[in-house]
Amino acid sequence: MKLPFALARRFVAGETFEQSVSKVRYFNEHGIKVTLDLLGENVKDRETADSTVDEYIGLLQNIHTAGLKSTISVKLTMMGLDIDTEYCKDNLYRLLDEAREKDSFVRIDMEGSDYTQVTIDLFKDAFRDYGKHVGIVLQSYLHRTKQDVAELAELGADVRMCKGAYKEPSRVALQDMADIREAFKEYTAMLLEKTTYPRIATHDDELIDWVKAYAAENKIGKPRFEIQMLYGLREETMIDLVKDGYNARVYVPYGTMWFPYFKRRLTERKENIFFVARNLFKK
Ligand SMILES: Cc1cc2nc3c(=O)[nH]c(=O)nc-3n(C[C@H](O)[C@H](O)[C@H](O)COP(=O)(O)OP(=O)(O)OC[C@H]3O[C@@H](n4cnc5c(N)ncnc54)[C@H](O)[C@@H]3O)c2cc1C
Repeated sequence: MKLPFALARRFVAGETFEQSVSKVRYFNEHGIKVTLDLLGENVKDRETADSTVDEYIGLLQNIHTAGLKSTISVKLTMMGLDIDTEYCKDNLYRLLDEAREKDSFVRIDMEGSDYTQVTIDLFKDAFRDYGKHVGIVLQSYLHRTKQDVAELAELGADVRMCKGAYKEPSRVALQDMADIREAFKEYTAMLLEKTTYPRIATHDDELIDWVKAYAAENKIGKPRFEIQMLYGLREETMIDLVKDGYNARVYVPYGTMWFPYFKRRLTERKENIFFVARNLFKK
């Protein structure tokens, strides 16, 4: 059964690029940069993976033609990671060739913990071969992130730090929010010290206030990092951040395969369920 898009529109900009462009322009006009994400994950056949890569390449071209201030985010399981690692790498490189050609940037989103190692391995190869055109995400809830962040910071990688959105067992991930926040702060401090431009992805005031204070105390200028939020959440806060001289970026998902993303947003915060319910009754 296909669920109506009206359910998801609070968190998903549209089902097509064309439906999402006006939202990207709106953010850009407010000084907020964008990361566009064509939704989908866990593709099981080569035909779909190949056409997904073609769509991502088309997306980079469309962004360039439309003159939008937007990069893209991708999930490796959309590009065939469940089928074969080398095949997925070829697909990623096909996309990165286009990103380099357009002087753009591709961020590899981080998925569930079964994919962490292979995602980092593929990122490291891609970073060696494409440098500033590729970045990765680390999740502060994973126990392993302490080592990963040290290694990737040493490499000077472009890292987005987030808490982590997948349900993980306690042997793999911290379960307590206070611990996850402490880890987030420790790893973000490391990224601020060792890398040129960390991306701090959170809607959490405690972490946003912390990063502002930490940067000020350590004489790290506002232009040296970026705060990222998800489409549909805290738009006013992002506008205020920009007015205050911080860099802000919004992650704008679109596409027809929105259900798993939508479900993660509903399960991570009960208020999001109310947002959706309210939205359903809006024209
Ligand atoms: C740009 C971006 C990219 C991401 N990429 C990935 C990825 O690649 N892989 C991955 O696993 N996860 C990703 N995530 C999701 C992330 O891991 C978290 O699941 C998600 O951001 C929720 O954590 P939080 O820190 O934002 O706040 P939460 O832990 O949901 O909330 C903590 C506190 O923040 C405040 N708060 C939260 N939301 C709001 C709101 N809307 N309004 C007011 N206050 C609020 C409340 O006080 C709340 O109690 C990404 C998140 C962002 C923002």
